[in-house]
Amino acid sequence: MPAAPSPPETGHLCHHGETIPYTVRYGSAARSRMALRVMLDGRVEILLPQGMPLARGHVLIRQRADWVARQWQRVRQCRLASPAPEQHDRRYVLGTLCKVEWLVARSWHGVTWRPPASPDIEGRLIISAKSESHAEALLHRWYAQKTLEVCADRLNFLKDAVPWLTAPPPLRVRRLCRRWGSCSNLGVVTLASLLCRLPIPCIDYVLLHELTHLAVFNHSPAFYAALSRLLPDWQNYRRQLETFPLPWQPLAKEHVSEPLGI
Ligand SMILES: [Zn+2]
Repeated sequence: MPAAPSPPETGHLCHHGETIPYTVRYGSAARSRMALRVMLDGRVEILLPQGMPLARGHVLIRQRADWVARQWQRVRQCRLASPAPEQHDRRYVLGTLCKVEWLVARSWHGVTWRPPASPDIEGRLIISAKSESHAEALLHRWYAQKTLEVCADRLNFLKDAVPWLTAPPPLRVRRLCRRWGSCSNLGVVTLASLLCRLPIPCIDYVLLHELTHLAVFNHSPAFYAALSRLLPDWQNYRRQLETFPLPWQPLAKEHVSEPLGI
């Protein structure tokens, strides 16, 4: 009779002042390699092939401490668990609800974003405009610019992980209604102007999805195999993307449902 598998072990990774709890456990009988994963809800897990000492998991997480801490920060900042719906005075920026201050002003018109100073202090979006419709236009323009800026940054960060990418593709932002992004056969990536409302991991997923189209220009099994090599848990991000509240209609009390999809 085979020996009963050892129960999971827990530990804490202390890294740059951060204490990150994690679990080391055995995977299925088919598992042949170690795996380290940071889940969307913030759990950190190391999966081992059966028969390997659990101590190897504790060593692995220390070897990959920088990576784990980076992922952990991203997940925590984004509050991915169950986003609250947007309201007239609460709008998302990078996955976090910000309080909106609508100002009517004659002199200065524009949008200022003050990111949350800590998890307990709300971020703020200050919109100064001459009228409601003007404020709506300003806010949408601000989202579009922010999307372009964030996506260019993220593309720069992600590009080295994409083996078939010789140079970052041109990015465009449009008021897409039905999709988060698209990739033309000329290799131009177009992104929904509201993309920067989503948490960074979801934005990365959208970008990696479109970058994968530069290698496989359809949604065939080869496409998903290539995407899985870039982002093994992409299904988690897609699920998150689909539950994120998409409806957005600035200054209006009713919401418009945008179809999901990428
Ligand atoms: Zn696609």
